[in-house]
Amino acid sequence: MNVKKIVIFGECMVELVTANETQLTKSFAGDTYNTAVYLKRTAPHVAVSYLTAIGEDFLSNELLFAMGNEQINTEQVYRSSQRNLGLYMVRTDPHGERTFAYWRANSAATQTINAMTKAPENIDYFYFSGISVAILDEPQRIKLFELLATLRSKGCKVVFDPNYRPLLWASGDEAKVWMDKSYQMADIAFPGGDDHLALYGHVNTEEVLAHLGQFEVDEVVMKNGAVGVHIVNSDGHFIVPVQKVTNVVDTTAAGDAFNGGYLAARLSGQSVTDAASHGAIVAGTVIQHPGAIIPAEALRKVVAPL
Ligand code: ADP
Repeated sequence: MNVKKIVIFGECMVELVTANETQLTKSFAGDTYNTAVYLKRTAPHVAVSYLTAIGEDFLSNELLFAMGNEQINTEQVYRSSQRNLGLYMVRTDPHGERTFAYWRANSAATQTINAMTKAPENIDYFYFSGISVAILDEPQRIKLFELLATLRSKGCKVVFDPNYRPLLWASGDEAKVWMDKSYQMADIAFPGGDDHLALYGHVNTEEVLAHLGQFEVDEVVMKNGAVGVHIVNSDGHFIVPVQKVTNVVDTTAAGDAFNGGYLAARLSGQSVTDAASHGAIVAGTVIQHPGAIIPAEALRKVVAPL
C-alpha cells in the first residue's frame, strides 16, 4: 500500500481538568489535534502531519514531545517567540455537568498561516475545522482558502468539520459565510446535528443534507450523537447504526474521535459504511473515558490498528 499523507491544521491547547478543590490535571487537546491522534493511533500506516504554531515556552515544548509520542509529524509546527499555547480549563460539577473556560485569544496558533514558511504540498488529504478558520484573522483566512484551492487543483482531497463554537466568531452571519465557503472547498464533510441546529437552525437530517446539497461535497458524513450516521455520496444515501453507549463518562472529543476513526478506515481503503462503523467504535470507546485523549492502551484493547 502506498503511504497516504494527510496534513491536519488547527490548534492544540493545554487542557487543565479540575482534579479536586486545589489540583489540576494537565494534558493537551484541541478538536483537530484529537482527530490527528485517533487517526494515527488507529491507522499507523498513514503519515499524519499537524500544521499549527506554538510558542517557545516549556508547555509548547511538552506539546511537541506529546505529538512525537503519538507519531505525529511535527515538521509543520511553527514557533512564535511572541506568543504561547492557548489553554482551557474544565470543571465538572457533582451532576457531571462540565463548564469550560478558555485563554486562547492571543495564542500562537492564531498566527499559523502568517508563520507558515512552507505551504504543504504533495499530500493526499488536508483536514481543518470551523475552529481552525475561526481563530484566524481575515487576511489569514483568505490565504488559507487560496492554499485549499491550490491543493485541490493538484488532486488533494479537502476534509472539513464545522465544529461551530459561537464564541470564536464575531457573529452567526460571519460564521455562516466561512462555514459555507469551507463546505464549498470540501471533498469530505462532517456536519454535526448540534452544530447545524445552533448555526443554521436546521431541525432534522433532511434540512442539514439539503443545505449540504448546495455544495459539491463528494462525501457527506452526518453525525448525530447515538443516532445513526447518515452518509451521502454519488452511490446514494446510507444510514449506519451506532451502538448506543450506556455508561458515557465524558463526551468530550466524541465527534473528533469519530472523524479520526472514519478517516483511518477510508485511508485504509474501506467503504464509507465500514468507515462510519469504525468511527463509531472509536468514538464510543473515547466517551467511556475521561478527557479528550484517552490512554492508548484503552483504545488498543477495543480497536486493533488497521
Ligand atoms: P460532536 O462531538 O461532534 O457533537 P456527536 O455527539 O454527534 O459529536 O457524536 C459523534 C459520534 O460519537 C457519533 O457519531 C457516535 O458515533 C458517537 N457517540 C456520541 N454519543 C454516543 C452515545 N451515547 N453512544 C454511542 N456513540 C455515541
